[in-house]
Amino acid sequence: MHIELTEMLRCPEPHGEAFLVMSTGEMLGRMVRSGILGCPICRREFPIVKGIVNFAGSGMRDAGCEPPADATHPASRIPHPVDSETLQALLDLSGPGGYVVLVGSAARHAVGLAGLMGGIHFIGINAPPDLDELPVLSLLVCRGMIPLRQTVARGVVVGSDRLGSDWLSEARRIVLPGRRVVVEGEDVPVPVGLTRLAVGEGLFVGERR
Ligand SMILES: [Zn+2]
Repeated sequence: MHIELTEMLRCPEPHGEAFLVMSTGEMLGRMVRSGILGCPICRREFPIVKGIVNFAGSGMRDAGCEPPADATHPASRIPHPVDSETLQALLDLSGPGGYVVLVGSAARHAVGLAGLMGGIHFIGINAPPDLDELPVLSLLVCRGMIPLRQTVARGVVVGSDRLGSDWLSEARRIVLPGRRVVVEGEDVPVPVGLTRLAVGEGLFVGERR
C-alpha cells in the first residue's frame, strides 16, 4: 500500500470517520510492505501483509487470508472486453493526480490505465488473488464495503464479480461529486445519488450528483 493512502482510509466498522494510525514495518520505496493500521475509535487493528491491507479479518489471526468470496456474485470467467482507452474516456479522466478505485476483477485494468495516464494512483478492492501490488496500485481487502473515506475518488470501476447493491452504494459514497462510476454490467441496481449517463456494450456509466 502506498504510504500516502493512509489518510484516505477509514475503518469498516459503522462509526464516524477517523484517521487510522499506521505503524510501518517493512517499506519498499513509498510502499508499505508490512505493518499495522489501528482505528482510534473502536481499537480494531488491520494487518498489512505483503503490501495488502486486510480489513476483512478480526485481527492478526486472519493475516494473509485470501480476499473474501462474494458468494452471491461469483467471479465472471469472461475476459474483459473493455479496453483501457474506452475506460479512460468513460471515466472522463484527463490530467494527473488523485485516486481511481477498481473494485473486484476491475483491478486488472490498473496496468492499462496507468499506461495511459501518469500520476494517478489506483486502489484495488478485493482484487483477484493473482494480482500483486505495484508502485501505481495499492491493494485492500474488505467485506461488503470500501474502506475509504467518502468523496476521495476521481473515478470508480466496479468489476463484473461485484455487482451487488452494497458495492454500488459504496462506489457512489467514495466518488467525488460530478465524477463517474463505470460498472462492468448493464442491469445493475443504481444507487440513489448516481445519475445514469449511458448503458450499453456490457457497461453502465453513472455520475455522482
Ligand atoms: Zn473502528
